[in-house]
Amino acid sequence: MIWRGRTAVQLVFRRSYRVLAIESSCDDACIALLNRNNGTTTVVDHVKLTLNSTAAGGVIPTEAHGFHQYQIAKQASQFFKKHGISGENKPDLICCTRGPGMVGSLSAGLQFAKGLSVAWDKPLIGVHHMLGHLMIATLNSEDLKTHSSPKFPFLSLLCSGGHTMLVLLESIQKHTVLVNTVDIACGDALDKCARSLGFRGNMLGKELEAFVDSLTEEEKNQFLAIKTHSRDNPFNFQLSLPMRSPKHAKIPDVVQFSFASFLSTIDSYSPPSRMEKDFVTKFLAFKVQQIMFEHVVDRMKVAISKYSSLLGEVNDIVLSGGVASNKTLRKMVENSLHKEFKQRSLKFHFPEVSLCTDNAIMIGVAGIQIYENLKLVSDLSITPIRKWPLDELLKVDGWVSL
Ligand code: AMP
Ligand code: ZN
Repeated sequence: MIWRGRTAVQLVFRRSYRVLAIESSCDDACIALLNRNNGTTTVVDHVKLTLNSTAAGGVIPTEAHGFHQYQIAKQASQFFKKHGISGENKPDLICCTRGPGMVGSLSAGLQFAKGLSVAWDKPLIGVHHMLGHLMIATLNSEDLKTHSSPKFPFLSLLCSGGHTMLVLLESIQKHTVLVNTVDIACGDALDKCARSLGFRGNMLGKELEAFVDSLTEEEKNQFLAIKTHSRDNPFNFQLSLPMRSPKHAKIPDVVQFSFASFLSTIDSYSPPSRMEKDFVTKFLAFKVQQIMFEHVVDRMKVAISKYSSLLGEVNDIVLSGGVASNKTLRKMVENSLHKEFKQRSLKFHFPEVSLCTDNAIMIGVAGIQIYENLKLVSDLSITPIRKWPLDELLKVDGWVSL
């Protein structure tokens, strides 16, 4: 390990270096090349290919494993040719998602990254996928026109296909998960509800947003005015905010999100027979998205009130993950949190859409932080981690101090 340690130490003191990043935790095969120059990261290029799971109706882990095995070397070879990357012109640091995620998918990317690390004699960092989502808003890149970076401590709502959590980040390694989901993730629930309503394809949350946006203002206002806490409405439809029934404490011991009931409600619903099918679909699509996001905002508000003593220094709020690219959610969070924090001037950070969903740039951005601030790299023996709680970032094996 000494040779690897020495290479890595030398790099820390360089002002300018290049980072190759790989992400393969689920069904996206992503590669990025970043330049780090005097503390500023710029994105040279990034590519992403997604397994088409339309026919299967969801990601099947063995299919995703096969996809990455088929894809990674081929995709990297094209990317390397495009950027003249070779043994004579190699990046200085390799960052690759180590977990959490599907073990087969992760191992395809990680084994490939280890091979590059050995062949090029360059340090490897096994990055936590969620840390990537959480840190992406710190990307200081002129190319991607992101706004000013959030400053620690900041609050981040990570809302994706696999995770939904509200996290307080006090430093690169100090994270407190204030709210987590008790069942499925928000994106997963949106995708499943949309499929149940007849939508087909990948990223159904995005399709649902486009569909709801296409409704007329009159329809939106009409649907918004219809209350669904009981069936006493023209649609005979009941969908209430989770965690708000009388049996739930207003400020619970543990604040949690819950999304499973949205799917069971949609699946078990039968509309009145006189109702036109298309009109019912419009109504359900609108209500599912609206009430799901009301629930997200509602639990955020409860958490902010419960943990107010921890949040005194927070001025920045970040929204990240695929669902966080939804404009309605962004607006709802911004409007209600401005009210919640009253006199404080909050800054909201909405990474651009391509950075919200899974990508390799975020893995590079988080890897650079681990490298420069924590002065850590990974041992070549690291293996994928299927479940890796965010607050155990440094508790897993394989970290090597520089
Ligand atoms: P991620 O897991 O971060 O890659 O994000 C993928 C998830 O985000 C999937 O569940 C998508 O359906 C969801 N998603 C992507 N774009 C949107 C959008 N505009 N509105 C709602 N959900 C979205
Ligand atoms: Zn993700």
